[in-house]
Order: sequence, then C-alpha cells, then structure tokens
Amino acid sequence: MRIVIVGAGPAGGTAALMLARQRRHEVVLLDRDEFPRVKTCGSGLSPLCIGLCRELGLHETMARHAYGVCGLRFTGPAGHMATLAGPEGAWVVPRATFDAEIAGAAERAGARFEQGFKVSRLLLDAAGRVRGVAAGDRELEADLTLCADGAHSRFSVDPRPKRTIATIMGWYEGVPVTPGHMEMWFARRVSPWYGWLFPETPTRVNIGLCYHPDDPAKPRDIFDELVTRHVGERLRGATRLGRLRGAPISYTDSVGPVTRRGALYLGEAARLTNGFTGEGIFYAMKSGVMAADLVAKHGGRTFGGTTLEREYQRAVERAFNLRFRVALAFRGFRGSEAFTALTALLAFKPVERVLHWALLHAT
Ligand SMILES: Cc1cc2nc3c(=O)[nH]c(=O)nc-3n(C[C@H](O)[C@H](O)[C@H](O)COP(=O)(O)OP(=O)(O)OC[C@H]3O[C@@H](n4cnc5c(N)ncnc54)[C@H](O)[C@@H]3O)c2cc1C
Repeated sequence: MRIVIVGAGPAGGTAALMLARQRRHEVVLLDRDEFPRVKTCGSGLSPLCIGLCRELGLHETMARHAYGVCGLRFTGPAGHMATLAGPEGAWVVPRATFDAEIAGAAERAGARFEQGFKVSRLLLDAAGRVRGVAAGDRELEADLTLCADGAHSRFSVDPRPKRTIATIMGWYEGVPVTPGHMEMWFARRVSPWYGWLFPETPTRVNIGLCYHPDDPAKPRDIFDELVTRHVGERLRGATRLGRLRGAPISYTDSVGPVTRRGALYLGEAARLTNGFTGEGIFYAMKSGVMAADLVAKHGGRTFGGTTLEREYQRAVERAFNLRFRVALAFRGFRGSEAFTALTALLAFKPVERVLHWALLHAT
C-alpha cells in the first residue's frame, strides 16, 4: 500500500522515517522545496525534543550539528536581567540541516523523497475519501495521505478561526555572546510574547521576535526597536546574513479535527504548537511518530475505514490537550504583573546564585 506525505518538515520527515522503517508500505515524501532549504525558525530543541531524537535513533546525527545550550540570559518586562545556568539542556540545530537529516534518514530507510513537488489539491473519491494528491496535472494515488504542510496548510479541515503568533527574524555573524547561552527579552512592547537570540555556532546567531499579529506597527520597526534595545552595541561589527524573514506560528488551546477520511494531519498543519513558547518541532515530530505507530497497529489492512482516523484523533487529543491548556495559562501569567515581580526576584543576585547552584546540582 502507498502512503503519501505532504511536507518534509519535522512532522512529515519523522512520519516518513518511522513508516519506512516498518518496511510494509511504499512511502512517498513530498516537498515543494529543494533540500536543504532555509526554514524561518529559531531552531531551538527543548530537552523533550532531544529525548525524542534519542528515541528515534537521530541523537548522534543531530548532536554533530548541535550548538549546546547550558544557560539562559533573560530580561524581564521592567528591564531586570538575570542568568539561569546549569548543565547542557537544550540544543540549537539549524533547520536547514535538521530537516534534511531527517528526510535523508527516511530515504535511507526506504522512503522515496520527491522534492520540488508542490501539492495543489487532494484527490477525492466519489464518497469524499482522500485518495491521493495532485500537483497541477500530475496525480499521485495513495491509500493514506498525511498532510504535514505546516502553518499555511492549504488542506486543513479545522473550521475554527486560526490563532497565530506573528514573528520576524534574521541571522547574524559576529555578535558577541556568552558561549552556550540563549537570550530572551520579555519586553512589554510585545507582551506576552518575547524576543530571542539563539546561538547556532560559536560565531552565528539567529535573532527574532514573536509579537501580536494585530500589532499595527511595521514588523521591521518593532524588530529594530527591540533589537537595538537588547542587542544594541553588540550589533556594531556584526553582519546580517540575508534578509529578515517573517512567518506565523499557528497554535490552539485544544486539538481540533486532525483527520478526514483517508488523511491524517500532522504538526503545524494541525496547529500542534505550544502557545506559551512557540515550540513546534517536538509536537511535529511526536505527531509523526503517533501516525506511524497507528499505521503499524492497523497493519496490512486497507486504510480508509474510519478506525485509524478515529484512533489518531484520540491519540493527538490525549497527548496534547492538557499541555496546550497549561501553555496558555502560563502565557497569561507571563503577561501579568506577577511575572514582572518574579523576574525582579530572579535578578536579585543572592537568588540568582542559589538558583545557579541548584540547577548545576539538579542532575
Ligand atoms: C520564527 C519562528 C521561530 C520558531 N522557533 C522555534 C524553535 O526555536 N523551536 C521549535 O521547536 N519551534 C519553533 N518554531 C515552530 C516550528 O518552526 C514549527 O512548529 C515546525 O516547523 C512545524 O513543523 P511541521 O513539520 O509541522 O511544518 P514545517 O516545518 O513548516 O514543514 C512543512 C513543510 O511542508 C512543505 N510544504 C508546504 N506546502 C506544501 C505543498 N503544497 N506541497 C508540498 N510541500 C509543501 C514546506 O516546504 C515545508 O518543508 C518557530 C517558528 C517560527 C515561525
């Protein structure tokens, strides 16, 4: 049986890898772009995501490309600054490399990866069941279709208005940073969102900003204002690599419909991101694993009854609903005066020193 996957980000790539490893189906991974391609993303991998890479046997590969992070320097809404440092806990792996490595691993496991294939529509049978995809005149029949085409998904079945976080970011060479430290600014200007500086190599960083999509100011002006304030003088001898890029992050407080007959929706195409942090890579990969596991469970039987779809819907709800609600509650807290007070407390030197000691001895 043939499974076609639309989109080779972490969701589609992971699904392709796990399905190809099952060696039971013909797996075809499609992407409109040629890889490696730049993806607008901070490329930060949380400990959860690193753990998942380990489970999937991708840890060693990704570790070769990873910039290890052992500390966070943050600035609170009222300007208090503090550093929380401990053992290495997070990674930054540029998405061009990260996504290409997963897709490459899927190919080596037996998936066919077609690049430059921009799916323009889903093919439906007379009963409305998805029976494949098409790019212009070219049709590709499938027994099961996985839609992993990201935040702009053109095939989404979720009827609710989309909730998004707006972003703008760029890459810079030569910004002085504390080695191994990320930076975040919880500036009132974009509250409850934030700005960040993530190191990708000892000399290259990505700098970006999440903000409210209804903010009437020009994105470039908000970016310039906050980056000047928080990176300031350090930008003086630095070079920007390419243009600034913007992209939405699509999120939800509860999982909506993530299936239709003959198709499952993965990753950001299903709005699976953390509404507190904007993290989406872990959620994308996890949904890819869940889809592949359920396909394995349903084995060689013809897909397109409704059992697979129903079980995937339930599995995604069980895995993420609580996390999404907690994420939005935390986001509410971050926009509050209590959060400002907390950042002031953390910036108080004796507290910072105790936390530093505790984090170093926590593992
Ligand atoms: C500025 C920014 C910073 C972020 N920072 C982080 C971070 O630090 N850490 C983190 O965990 N998350 C971060 N995220 C979120 C994260 O990037 C996404 O949640 C994640 O990429 C979702 O993965 P995905 O596989 O679902 O979709 P994507 O990664 O978007 O992949 C979708 C793929 O589908 C392809 N595609 C789209 N349409 C078609 C089509 N019609 N036909 C064929 N192919 C198609 C695209 O080319 C793309 O390769 C950030 C997002 C933004 C915008």
